[in-house]
Amino acid sequence: MATKGINNIQQALLHWFYANKRELPWRETKDPYLIWVSEIMLQQTKVDTVIPYYKAFIKEFPTINHLAEAKEERVLKRWEGLGYYSRAKNLHRGVKEVKESYMGEVPKDKETLLKIPGIGDYTAGAILSIAYQKEEPAIDGNVLRVITRIFRIFEDINKVSTKREVEGLVKELIPAEDPSAFNQGLMELGALICTPKSPKCGECPVQPFCESEKYNEQLFLPIKKKKKKIPNVYRISLIIADDKHILLTQRPKEGLLADLWELPSIEQEQPLSEEEWQLLIHQQFGEEIELGEKWGSLKHIFSHKKWLIEVYRANFSKMDISMMEKEKNKNKHQFNVIKRENLKELPFPRVYQEIIKEFRI
Ligand code: SF4
Repeated sequence: MATKGINNIQQALLHWFYANKRELPWRETKDPYLIWVSEIMLQQTKVDTVIPYYKAFIKEFPTINHLAEAKEERVLKRWEGLGYYSRAKNLHRGVKEVKESYMGEVPKDKETLLKIPGIGDYTAGAILSIAYQKEEPAIDGNVLRVITRIFRIFEDINKVSTKREVEGLVKELIPAEDPSAFNQGLMELGALICTPKSPKCGECPVQPFCESEKYNEQLFLPIKKKKKKIPNVYRISLIIADDKHILLTQRPKEGLLADLWELPSIEQEQPLSEEEWQLLIHQQFGEEIELGEKWGSLKHIFSHKKWLIEVYRANFSKMDISMMEKEKNKNKHQFNVIKRENLKELPFPRVYQEIIKEFRI
Protein backbone atom coordinates (compact mmCIF):
# COMPACT_ATOMS: atom_id res chain seq x y z
CA MET A 1 0.00 0.00 0.00
CA ALA A 2 1.33 3.45 -0.86
CA THR A 3 2.18 5.60 2.17
CA LYS A 4 -0.18 8.35 0.98
CA GLY A 5 -3.09 5.88 0.83
CA ILE A 6 -2.26 4.59 4.30
CA ASN A 7 -2.12 8.10 5.77
CA ASN A 8 -5.38 9.09 4.13
CA ILE A 9 -7.27 6.08 5.51
CA GLN A 10 -5.74 6.52 8.98
CA GLN A 11 -6.58 10.20 9.21
CA ALA A 12 -10.12 9.81 7.85
CA LEU A 13 -10.92 6.97 10.23
CA LEU A 14 -9.39 8.57 13.35
CA HIS A 15 -11.09 11.88 12.69
CA TRP A 16 -14.45 10.15 12.21
CA PHE A 17 -14.02 7.95 15.30
CA TYR A 18 -13.27 10.82 17.66
CA ALA A 19 -16.27 12.75 16.34
CA ASN A 20 -18.76 9.86 16.28
CA LYS A 21 -17.79 7.18 18.80
CA ARG A 22 -20.47 5.92 21.15
CA GLU A 23 -20.03 6.58 24.85
CA LEU A 24 -19.62 3.08 26.26
CA PRO A 25 -18.65 2.25 29.86
CA TRP A 26 -15.53 0.29 28.85
CA ARG A 27 -14.34 3.27 26.81
CA GLU A 28 -13.93 5.24 30.04
CA THR A 29 -10.96 3.12 31.12
CA LYS A 30 -7.55 1.90 30.01
CA ASP A 31 -7.43 -0.78 32.72
CA PRO A 32 -6.42 -3.97 30.83
CA TYR A 33 -8.54 -6.16 33.15
CA LEU A 34 -11.69 -4.14 32.46
CA ILE A 35 -10.96 -4.10 28.71
CA TRP A 36 -10.52 -7.88 28.92
CA VAL A 37 -13.87 -8.34 30.69
CA SER A 38 -15.68 -6.15 28.15
CA GLU A 39 -14.13 -7.88 25.15
CA ILE A 40 -15.08 -11.33 26.43
CA MET A 41 -18.65 -10.18 27.10
CA LEU A 42 -18.92 -8.60 23.66
CA GLN A 43 -18.08 -11.84 21.86
CA GLN A 44 -21.28 -12.97 20.08
CA THR A 45 -23.34 -10.51 22.15
CA LYS A 46 -24.80 -7.12 21.26
CA VAL A 47 -23.43 -3.94 22.87
CA ASP A 48 -26.81 -2.96 24.39
CA THR A 49 -27.16 -6.36 26.03
CA VAL A 50 -23.62 -6.25 27.43
CA ILE A 51 -23.77 -2.78 29.07
CA PRO A 52 -25.83 -3.70 32.21
CA TYR A 53 -23.96 -7.01 32.62
CA TYR A 54 -20.60 -5.26 32.35
CA LYS A 55 -21.58 -2.64 34.94
CA ALA A 56 -22.89 -5.21 37.41
CA PHE A 57 -19.89 -7.50 36.85
CA ILE A 58 -17.22 -4.88 37.46
CA LYS A 59 -19.15 -3.55 40.44
CA GLU A 60 -18.94 -6.96 42.07
CA PHE A 61 -15.46 -7.81 40.72
CA PRO A 62 -13.73 -4.43 40.24
CA THR A 63 -10.17 -5.83 40.11
CA ILE A 64 -8.29 -8.96 39.11
CA ASN A 65 -7.99 -9.87 42.79
CA HIS A 66 -11.74 -9.67 43.36
CA LEU A 67 -12.50 -11.93 40.41
CA ALA A 68 -9.63 -14.35 41.09
CA GLU A 69 -10.86 -14.87 44.65
CA ALA A 70 -14.55 -15.23 43.77
CA LYS A 71 -16.31 -18.60 43.82
CA GLU A 72 -17.08 -19.91 40.34
CA GLU A 73 -20.77 -20.24 41.16
CA ARG A 74 -20.86 -16.51 41.99
CA VAL A 75 -19.14 -15.63 38.69
CA LEU A 76 -21.62 -17.77 36.73
CA LYS A 77 -24.48 -16.14 38.62
CA ARG A 78 -23.28 -12.69 37.50
CA TRP A 79 -23.04 -14.02 33.94
CA GLU A 80 -26.51 -15.59 34.10
CA GLY A 81 -28.52 -14.73 31.00
CA LEU A 82 -25.55 -13.58 28.91
CA GLY A 83 -25.04 -17.03 27.37
CA TYR A 84 -21.87 -18.85 26.23
CA TYR A 85 -20.95 -19.61 29.84
CA SER A 86 -17.58 -21.11 28.94
CA ARG A 87 -16.53 -17.47 28.39
CA ALA A 88 -17.14 -16.73 32.08
CA LYS A 89 -15.34 -19.87 33.22
CA ASN A 90 -12.33 -19.17 31.01
CA LEU A 91 -12.20 -15.54 32.09
CA HIS A 92 -12.23 -16.68 35.70
CA ARG A 93 -9.48 -19.24 35.07
CA GLY A 94 -7.47 -16.69 33.08
CA VAL A 95 -7.68 -14.07 35.80
CA LYS A 96 -6.58 -16.58 38.43
CA GLU A 97 -3.58 -17.43 36.26
CA VAL A 98 -2.68 -13.75 35.87
CA LYS A 99 -2.87 -13.35 39.64
CA GLU A 100 -0.75 -16.43 40.35
CA SER A 101 1.79 -16.34 37.51
CA TYR A 102 2.09 -12.65 36.60
CA MET A 103 1.66 -10.97 39.98
CA GLY A 104 -1.80 -9.75 39.01
CA GLU A 105 -0.60 -7.73 36.01
CA VAL A 106 -2.11 -8.49 32.59
CA PRO A 107 0.88 -9.35 30.32
CA LYS A 108 1.92 -6.76 27.74
CA ASP A 109 3.05 -9.10 24.95
CA LYS A 110 0.96 -11.20 22.62
CA GLU A 111 2.84 -14.46 23.05
CA THR A 112 2.24 -14.51 26.81
CA LEU A 113 -1.35 -13.30 26.53
CA LEU A 114 -2.20 -16.13 24.14
CA LYS A 115 -1.20 -18.69 26.82
CA ILE A 116 -3.95 -17.43 29.14
CA PRO A 117 -7.25 -19.37 29.03
CA GLY A 118 -9.94 -17.69 26.94
CA ILE A 119 -7.60 -15.21 25.25
CA GLY A 120 -7.32 -15.68 21.49
CA ASP A 121 -5.89 -13.50 18.72
CA TYR A 122 -8.72 -11.00 18.79
CA THR A 123 -8.87 -10.47 22.57
CA ALA A 124 -5.07 -10.25 22.80
CA GLY A 125 -5.05 -7.62 20.04
CA ALA A 126 -7.84 -5.64 21.71
CA ILE A 127 -6.14 -5.64 25.15
CA LEU A 128 -2.72 -4.73 23.71
CA SER A 129 -3.95 -1.93 21.47
CA ILE A 130 -6.69 -0.44 23.69
CA ALA A 131 -5.07 -0.75 27.12
CA TYR A 132 -1.37 -0.60 26.20
CA GLN A 133 -1.43 1.37 22.91
CA LYS A 134 0.51 -1.38 21.06
CA GLU A 135 0.34 -1.65 17.26
CA GLU A 136 -1.52 -4.97 17.28
CA PRO A 137 -4.50 -5.71 15.02
CA ALA A 138 -7.77 -6.83 16.63
CA ILE A 139 -9.75 -8.56 13.90
CA ASP A 140 -13.39 -9.26 14.69
CA GLY A 141 -16.33 -9.75 12.30
CA ASN A 142 -16.80 -5.99 11.85
CA VAL A 143 -13.17 -5.46 10.93
CA LEU A 144 -13.21 -8.40 8.48
CA ARG A 145 -16.21 -6.87 6.72
CA VAL A 146 -14.77 -3.35 6.55
CA ILE A 147 -11.33 -4.42 5.32
CA THR A 148 -12.59 -6.93 2.73
CA ARG A 149 -14.84 -4.17 1.38
CA ILE A 150 -12.22 -1.41 1.33
CA PHE A 151 -9.68 -3.69 -0.37
CA ARG A 152 -12.20 -5.73 -2.42
CA ILE A 153 -11.11 -9.13 -1.13
CA PHE A 154 -13.29 -11.85 -2.66
CA GLU A 155 -11.97 -14.75 -0.54
CA ASP A 156 -13.90 -16.76 2.07
CA ILE A 157 -13.37 -14.97 5.42
CA ASN A 158 -13.55 -18.30 7.25
CA LYS A 159 -10.25 -19.30 5.62
CA VAL A 160 -7.14 -18.76 7.72
CA SER A 161 -5.32 -17.33 4.66
CA THR A 162 -7.98 -14.61 4.28
CA LYS A 163 -7.76 -13.71 7.96
CA ARG A 164 -3.97 -13.48 7.63
CA GLU A 165 -4.33 -11.21 4.58
CA VAL A 166 -6.72 -8.92 6.46
CA GLU A 167 -4.39 -8.94 9.47
CA GLY A 168 -1.46 -7.95 7.25
CA LEU A 169 -3.42 -5.02 5.83
CA VAL A 170 -4.49 -3.80 9.28
CA LYS A 171 -0.86 -4.05 10.48
CA GLU A 172 0.16 -1.75 7.64
CA LEU A 173 -2.63 0.66 8.48
CA ILE A 174 -2.34 0.95 12.29
CA PRO A 175 -0.77 4.29 13.21
CA ALA A 176 1.97 4.11 15.86
CA GLU A 177 0.61 7.20 17.60
CA ASP A 178 -2.93 5.90 18.29
CA PRO A 179 -3.50 2.13 17.77
CA SER A 180 -6.32 2.12 20.33
CA ALA A 181 -8.51 4.64 18.49
CA PHE A 182 -7.67 3.14 15.10
CA ASN A 183 -8.71 -0.41 16.04
CA GLN A 184 -11.82 0.81 17.83
CA GLY A 185 -12.57 3.05 14.86
CA LEU A 186 -12.52 0.09 12.46
CA MET A 187 -14.87 -1.85 14.74
CA GLU A 188 -17.13 1.16 15.22
CA LEU A 189 -17.24 1.80 11.48
CA GLY A 190 -18.38 -1.79 10.96
CA ALA A 191 -21.01 -1.48 13.70
CA LEU A 192 -22.47 1.91 12.71
CA ILE A 193 -21.74 2.60 9.02
CA CYS A 194 -20.37 -0.39 7.11
CA THR A 195 -23.16 -2.68 8.29
CA PRO A 196 -23.74 -6.10 6.70
CA LYS A 197 -26.95 -5.40 4.75
CA SER A 198 -27.19 -1.62 4.32
CA PRO A 199 -23.82 0.13 4.46
CA LYS A 200 -24.18 3.91 4.59
CA CYS A 201 -21.46 4.61 2.06
CA GLY A 202 -22.56 8.23 1.66
CA GLU A 203 -21.67 8.88 5.34
CA CYS A 204 -18.52 6.76 5.36
CA PRO A 205 -15.20 8.49 6.12
CA VAL A 206 -13.18 6.01 4.00
CA GLN A 207 -15.55 6.01 1.03
CA PRO A 208 -13.02 7.82 -1.24
CA PHE A 209 -10.59 4.90 -0.70
CA CYS A 210 -13.08 2.03 -0.82
CA GLU A 211 -12.52 -0.29 -3.78
CA SER A 212 -15.75 -2.30 -3.50
CA GLU A 213 -17.87 0.87 -3.34
CA LYS A 214 -16.20 2.07 -6.52
CA TYR A 215 -17.49 -1.03 -8.32
CA ASN A 216 -20.77 -1.11 -6.39
CA GLU A 217 -19.89 -4.55 -5.05
CA GLN A 218 -19.98 -3.82 -1.33
CA LEU A 219 -23.07 -5.94 -0.69
CA PHE A 220 -21.32 -9.02 -2.13
CA LEU A 221 -18.66 -8.77 0.56
CA PRO A 222 -17.50 -10.34 2.73
CA ILE A 223 -17.63 -13.81 1.21
CA LYS A 224 -18.76 -16.31 3.80
CA LYS A 225 -19.34 -19.92 2.76
CA LYS A 226 -22.62 -21.23 4.17
CA LYS A 227 -22.31 -23.34 7.28
CA LYS A 228 -24.12 -26.65 7.64
CA LYS A 229 -27.68 -26.45 8.97
CA ILE A 230 -27.68 -26.86 12.74
CA PRO A 231 -29.54 -29.95 14.00
CA ASN A 232 -32.61 -29.91 16.27
CA VAL A 233 -32.40 -31.60 19.65
CA TYR A 234 -35.75 -32.48 21.24
CA ARG A 235 -35.88 -32.11 25.00
CA ILE A 236 -38.43 -32.69 27.68
CA SER A 237 -37.97 -30.83 30.96
CA LEU A 238 -39.92 -31.61 34.10
CA ILE A 239 -41.19 -29.28 36.78
CA ILE A 240 -41.37 -31.44 39.89
CA ALA A 241 -42.18 -29.21 42.82
CA ASP A 242 -44.20 -28.85 45.98
CA ASP A 243 -44.94 -25.59 47.83
CA LYS A 244 -41.47 -25.51 49.41
CA HIS A 245 -39.13 -27.36 47.06
CA ILE A 246 -38.25 -28.04 43.46
CA LEU A 247 -36.16 -30.85 41.99
CA LEU A 248 -33.21 -29.85 39.83
CA THR A 249 -30.12 -31.33 38.25
CA GLN A 250 -26.71 -29.76 37.77
CA ARG A 251 -25.08 -30.07 34.35
CA PRO A 252 -21.70 -31.83 34.02
CA LYS A 253 -18.48 -30.01 34.89
CA GLU A 254 -17.33 -29.90 31.25
CA GLY A 255 -19.03 -29.06 27.98
CA LEU A 256 -22.14 -27.09 27.05
CA LEU A 257 -23.50 -24.87 29.87
CA ALA A 258 -21.12 -26.63 32.26
CA ASP A 259 -22.05 -26.55 35.96
CA LEU A 260 -25.30 -24.62 35.42
CA TRP A 261 -28.55 -25.84 36.96
CA GLU A 262 -31.62 -26.98 35.08
CA LEU A 263 -34.88 -28.87 35.35
CA PRO A 264 -34.60 -32.66 35.11
CA SER A 265 -34.48 -33.23 31.36
CA ILE A 266 -34.15 -35.90 28.69
CA GLU A 267 -32.93 -35.34 25.13
CA GLN A 268 -33.64 -37.14 21.86
CA GLU A 269 -32.67 -36.56 18.24
CA GLN A 270 -36.24 -37.17 17.02
CA PRO A 271 -39.53 -35.63 18.22
CA LEU A 272 -41.52 -37.99 20.50
CA SER A 273 -45.17 -38.32 21.46
CA GLU A 274 -46.24 -37.80 25.11
CA GLU A 275 -46.54 -41.59 25.53
CA GLU A 276 -43.02 -42.12 24.24
CA TRP A 277 -41.63 -39.43 26.53
CA GLN A 278 -43.46 -41.01 29.47
CA LEU A 279 -41.84 -44.36 28.72
CA LEU A 280 -38.38 -42.79 28.64
CA ILE A 281 -39.06 -40.91 31.88
CA HIS A 282 -39.93 -44.19 33.58
CA GLN A 283 -36.76 -45.79 32.25
CA GLN A 284 -34.49 -42.92 33.14
CA PHE A 285 -35.97 -41.38 36.29
CA GLY A 286 -38.15 -44.14 37.75
CA GLU A 287 -41.66 -45.54 37.61
CA GLU A 288 -42.94 -43.06 40.20
CA ILE A 289 -42.77 -40.05 37.95
CA GLU A 290 -45.85 -39.29 35.87
CA LEU A 291 -46.20 -36.53 33.29
CA GLY A 292 -48.75 -33.91 34.31
CA GLU A 293 -50.06 -30.91 32.39
CA LYS A 294 -47.95 -29.13 29.82
CA TRP A 295 -46.34 -25.87 31.04
CA GLY A 296 -45.17 -24.62 27.63
CA SER A 297 -42.62 -24.87 24.83
CA LEU A 298 -39.24 -23.17 24.65
CA LYS A 299 -36.50 -22.83 22.09
CA HIS A 300 -32.81 -22.18 22.60
CA ILE A 301 -30.36 -21.80 19.74
CA PHE A 302 -26.67 -22.52 20.22
CA SER A 303 -24.03 -22.13 17.53
CA HIS A 304 -24.05 -25.88 16.80
CA LYS A 305 -27.54 -27.09 17.77
CA LYS A 306 -31.05 -26.03 18.58
CA TRP A 307 -32.95 -27.17 21.68
CA LEU A 308 -36.70 -27.56 21.22
CA ILE A 309 -37.98 -27.99 24.76
CA GLU A 310 -41.37 -29.19 25.94
CA VAL A 311 -41.88 -28.33 29.59
CA TYR A 312 -44.28 -30.43 31.67
CA ARG A 313 -45.30 -30.49 35.27
CA ALA A 314 -44.69 -33.96 36.67
CA ASN A 315 -46.02 -35.80 39.73
CA PHE A 316 -44.71 -38.40 42.08
CA SER A 317 -47.20 -41.16 42.64
CA LYS A 318 -45.45 -42.97 45.49
CA MET A 319 -42.90 -40.77 47.13
CA ASP A 320 -43.18 -37.12 48.01
CA ILE A 321 -40.47 -34.54 47.76
CA SER A 322 -39.95 -34.01 51.48
CA MET A 323 -39.15 -37.72 51.80
CA MET A 324 -36.52 -37.27 49.12
CA GLU A 325 -35.08 -34.30 50.97
CA LYS A 326 -34.64 -36.48 54.05
CA GLU A 327 -32.85 -39.11 51.96
CA LYS A 328 -30.54 -36.35 50.68
CA ASN A 329 -28.05 -37.74 48.19
CA LYS A 330 -29.17 -41.32 48.57
CA ASN A 331 -32.18 -40.92 46.29
CA LYS A 332 -32.01 -42.98 43.13
CA HIS A 333 -33.37 -40.25 40.87
CA GLN A 334 -30.19 -38.19 40.49
CA PHE A 335 -32.18 -35.11 41.50
CA ASN A 336 -31.21 -32.37 43.93
CA VAL A 337 -33.97 -31.21 46.23
CA ILE A 338 -33.71 -27.42 46.31
CA LYS A 339 -35.62 -25.15 48.69
CA ARG A 340 -37.46 -22.50 46.71
CA GLU A 341 -35.90 -19.67 48.73
CA ASN A 342 -32.43 -20.90 47.67
CA LEU A 343 -33.18 -20.75 43.94
CA LYS A 344 -31.90 -17.19 43.62
CA GLU A 345 -28.38 -18.35 44.54
CA LEU A 346 -28.06 -20.82 41.66
CA PRO A 347 -27.03 -20.01 38.08
CA PHE A 348 -29.37 -21.19 35.30
CA PRO A 349 -29.14 -21.09 31.50
CA ARG A 350 -31.26 -18.24 30.12
CA VAL A 351 -33.82 -20.64 28.69
CA TYR A 352 -34.75 -21.92 32.18
CA GLN A 353 -34.73 -18.59 33.99
CA GLU A 354 -38.32 -17.69 33.13
CA ILE A 355 -39.60 -20.97 34.52
CA ILE A 356 -37.46 -20.74 37.63
CA LYS A 357 -38.67 -17.19 38.33
CA GLU A 358 -42.12 -18.61 38.88
CA PHE A 359 -40.81 -20.76 41.75
CA ARG A 360 -38.67 -18.18 43.57
CA ILE A 361 -40.21 -16.95 46.78
S1 SF4 B 1 -17.66 3.02 1.51
FE1 SF4 B 1 -19.33 1.69 2.02
S2 SF4 B 1 -18.55 -0.37 1.71
FE2 SF4 B 1 -16.79 1.00 1.75
S3 SF4 B 1 -16.11 0.92 3.86
FE3 SF4 B 1 -17.50 2.65 3.68
S4 SF4 B 1 -19.52 1.86 4.22
FE4 SF4 B 1 -18.18 0.12 3.83
